Amino acid sequence: MKYALEIKKLRKIYKTNICAINSIDLKVKIGDFYALLGPNGAGKSTTIGILSSLIKKSSGLVKIFGYDIDKDKINTKKKIGLVPQEFNFSPFETINQIVINQAGFYGIKKSIAIDRAKKYLNKLELWDQRNKPARVLSGGTKRRLMIARALMHKPKVLILDEPTAGVDVEIRRLIWKLLINLNKNGKTIILTTHYFEEAEFLCNHIGIMQYGILIKNTSIQKLLSKVKSEKFILESSSDISKIKIEGYNFKNLQKNTLEVEVDKKKGLNDLFFQLNSQNIHIISMRNKSNRLEELFLNLVSK
Ligand code: ADP
Ligand code: MG
Repeated sequence: MKYALEIKKLRKIYKTNICAINSIDLKVKIGDFYALLGPNGAGKSTTIGILSSLIKKSSGLVKIFGYDIDKDKINTKKKIGLVPQEFNFSPFETINQIVINQAGFYGIKKSIAIDRAKKYLNKLELWDQRNKPARVLSGGTKRRLMIARALMHKPKVLILDEPTAGVDVEIRRLIWKLLINLNKNGKTIILTTHYFEEAEFLCNHIGIMQYGILIKNTSIQKLLSKVKSEKFILESSSDISKIKIEGYNFKNLQKNTLEVEVDKKKGLNDLFFQLNSQNIHIISMRNKSNRLEELFLNLVSK
């Protein structure tokens, strides 16, 4: 068995007649870090809801680590750790109670649950807040609590629906670091995200969804190799509004900033040679936009 997840001809039509998923086929290898990317309403949460048996599919086949979700609910449930998009814990229970009770649902001994709670709450920097009831926690703390809770039964695959939506940069970094470590230690991770840089930074493979269809399913590397040119913003220490550059499309944004389009085949050396020969001192350079974002916009506008 090579796959953490196998989906065949998955369809979901809600009672309202909305076709949220229209025949998806997808395989995610054991140990992979996979991102489902797509606009609101694409069907990402519905897909994740079906994997974790919270939503009933209309048709198709779903296997988790080889277990069919219809035929072997107990084994599939044990394999999955779910971090849903919406907070779904009791507002009156404390952080500690929530994670320990979760272990109880999976039949884990109390003494083991107490140790694990300490370990995961520390990893997510929640230990000091463990006696606070959920209702008083900030959005970022609640998100981290959901991740700690999902890890309590040591699932083989962690599935997260928009895990960093609405959290601040510091917490996002903490979550990213944890996910990277978990994946390095063998856990398969599947997440949905709106953030292109999140997919690019974390994941090996990516699926792009639109209108319930998986319009692209590929590796991040392959996807990025399709980028033929990139736009860079260059900042100079002096006025460069009269600059001359041969062989590159460029425009002046301000008197000391420049936007230059660089064809990957041509590269940057000649650009810097020309800048040097005009005694122009470049003090910073950045990509104008995320490369995946541009590709994504091209894909979904077709
Ligand atoms: P995403 O997570 O990509 O934003 P969703 O899976 O939440 O997308 O939604 C996919 C489509 O299904 C949307 O058109 C949404 O309005 C619809 N939908 C989601 N949940 C329900 C529901 N419980 N009942 C009816 N329609 C739903
Ligand atoms: Mg969603």
